[in-house]
Amino acid sequence: MHIEEMYRAFGISSGVAELGREAEAALRERFDSIDRMAEYNQLKVLKALKDNRVSEADFVRTTGYGYDDGGRDNLERVYASVFKGADALVRAQLISGTHAISTALFANLRPGDELLSPCGKPYDTLDSIIGLNDAAGSLKEYGITYRQVDLKEDYSFDYEGIRAALNDRTRLVEIQRSRGYDLRPTFSVDKIGELIAFIRSVRPDVKVMVDNCYGEFVEDREPLEVGADIIVGSLIKNPGGGLAPIGGYIAGDAKMVEKCAYRLTAPGLGKEIGANLGVNKDLFQGLFLAPQVVAGAEKGAIFAAYLFEKQGFAVSPKYQEERHDIIQAVTFGKPEGLRAFCEGIQSAAPVDAFVKPVPSDMPGYDSQVIMAAGNFISGASIELSADGPMREPYTVYFQGGLTWYHARIGILTALQKVIDSGI
Ligand SMILES: *Cc1c(COP(=O)(O)O)cnc(C)c1O
Repeated sequence: MHIEEMYRAFGISSGVAELGREAEAALRERFDSIDRMAEYNQLKVLKALKDNRVSEADFVRTTGYGYDDGGRDNLERVYASVFKGADALVRAQLISGTHAISTALFANLRPGDELLSPCGKPYDTLDSIIGLNDAAGSLKEYGITYRQVDLKEDYSFDYEGIRAALNDRTRLVEIQRSRGYDLRPTFSVDKIGELIAFIRSVRPDVKVMVDNCYGEFVEDREPLEVGADIIVGSLIKNPGGGLAPIGGYIAGDAKMVEKCAYRLTAPGLGKEIGANLGVNKDLFQGLFLAPQVVAGAEKGAIFAAYLFEKQGFAVSPKYQEERHDIIQAVTFGKPEGLRAFCEGIQSAAPVDAFVKPVPSDMPGYDSQVIMAAGNFISGASIELSADGPMREPYTVYFQGGLTWYHARIGILTALQKVIDSGI
């Protein structure tokens, strides 16, 4: 086997291939513990599939109203089992993570209520949902107010600020697990549990929703197990395992999930309708693969953290740090580095590898953004993908990789391009 020759044919020098070997050797123990986590989560998913007697009949395509869609209903039972909820809504008709979050917020808030974010400004796409930018159709338009308590300077929770912000109108608290595209750390499930316990000690009746995007299967527990009422996520991220072609999920308290179903379809209809359109097999199989896919993505993130840190770039999280999602940030300080990184990821993609990413304007951003994504599923960020705004400090955020081997090759290609750029 001439693997080094193959690397050279792929444009990766023997020096960079060697750096990869060194990194892998140094990270051996870390990778072993990720494998054990994947093994645990594989057992968890398998048990849910078995306990719910999943069979080929669950893969039948339904159309139209989708009454009596047994496969869809069983998929929802499986999600409820995996995430330890009383019920779940798992639908192709939940278009994205943002749509699932929006559905959950509108479903569980009423005029006069207040939404509280106790960990600073949430993910960018929530600005319009909340009405921070006066978008049409926002919660604000419906008389639902919003309050936020920023993290302290050391990124810890401002418990006294949260105590003061919780008031008679606070109905729902939204906790974002992952950093998203922010420089704050991602919260562990334990940390989220501590925060929820505090909130309950002040206001036992307030509901807690966790934006679980990018966090699924990174740990052995999920936020419903530490007191969250509902969790929400995207199927083109972790739990779709790369196979889900579309979809979102909401899991947790049965009453709250039911309200989400009424909001998604219509009052009176709820979970009873919504054809699966033939995606069921992929949603089941994607969930089955998800623990391994997440493990591969996490290894890729740590591998990149190690390599780029050794090259003198600021990385977050650092390779030794514990991590609670699959996102990795690398800061280049110069536009050439960000460009070269994205070019490398793109040129090692399974789809559109011939395309060269160029920075362009994006709605909602004040600077141009460069993105690399050569995906089987459009926009799926469980696949190896990278992006960053073309402004100081020129930080790339990247995530995913359907296999560890692909993540490894993509990251080495990116490293090669960054080294070649001479920054
Ligand atoms: C991805 C993500 C979302 C939702 O994004 P979509 O692109 O709409 O799926 C929400 N919150 C966080 C933290 C995310 O990472």
